[in-house]
Amino acid sequence: MKKLSFCLVIFLLTTVLWAQPVKKYALVIHGGAGVMDKDKMTPEMQNEYISVLNRVLHVGDSVLANGGTCLDAVEKTIVIMEDSPLFNAGKGAVFNHDGIVELDASVMEGKSLNAGAIAAVRDIKNPIRVARAVMEKSEHVLLNGSGASQFAKEQGFESVENSYFHTEKRYKSLQELLKKEREATAKDKHGTVGCVALDTFGNIAAGTSTGGMTNKKYGRIGDSPIIGAGTYANNETGAFSCTGHGEYYIRLGFSRDISALMEYKKLSVIDACREEIRKLTQLGGTGGVIGIDRKGNIAMEFNTSGMFRGYVKSIGEKEVAIFK
Ligand code: ASP
Repeated sequence: MKKLSFCLVIFLLTTVLWAQPVKKYALVIHGGAGVMDKDKMTPEMQNEYISVLNRVLHVGDSVLANGGTCLDAVEKTIVIMEDSPLFNAGKGAVFNHDGIVELDASVMEGKSLNAGAIAAVRDIKNPIRVARAVMEKSEHVLLNGSGASQFAKEQGFESVENSYFHTEKRYKSLQELLKKEREATAKDKHGTVGCVALDTFGNIAAGTSTGGMTNKKYGRIGDSPIIGAGTYANNETGAFSCTGHGEYYIRLGFSRDISALMEYKKLSVIDACREEIRKLTQLGGTGGVIGIDRKGNIAMEFNTSGMFRGYVKSIGEKEVAIFK
């Protein structure tokens, strides 16, 4: 009798557990916004981007489906894009005015409002990993230059020669700009990478990684490592990662402003992102943003002709796109 009731309990438990709906998760990525001419990008090139974006989504999806945290998903997806020469982050980042690659990255966790960032590092292979370590293992939020590199080395992160980041494509872009004797403007294709994610625990996070803008001068730092400009996350509103002409994003307090629109004006994630892009356009800036809230609603907004982007959801939805 005892044995029978034991079996019954086990049976009921298993049935109840099986019947549990799959916990909701979602993830959105971007690989930069800018002027993207469909006719000028060969089908091979488009396929290359699409296949990396799909790979990134696949990895993010499996991290979250297997109970990984939103931060794990953000870090792992961004690392893939940092390691790809296609994007302006890590390998493949743009050159500054002096022909050196300087990298910025940041992460933020919506539950605790903890954040970490590094700026203008020249020798860290995966800046997003170090940004996370700044958040989790230091008492600071933003480290820059040689100090950030020293911290990264003390924490055991891989360092590389600056030449590791050099690619022919980015070198040519710098030479063209130098020749034209002008600053990199919003006309240039960007290529910063970012990810926002909702995990099965109901938490959200955001991360962004970039080489900044081609031909940047005087130790220029953009919006990407600035919490509240290029990256922001708050469980009460949403998580956001930006790409575009950083100076405008800093001046607008871009991602924090989206969060404020959601908090005070009760806008949805998509309406808040649209409203902020409207403000960006009005100011004369260009770029894009990805966003997510705790319900898994997402946004992928931009005012340029394209943005490398994609999303995946636990309900089986998945999409990648480049052009408007
Ligand atoms: N937002 C980056 C910066 O200004 C550049 C980009 O997104 O392409 O540094």
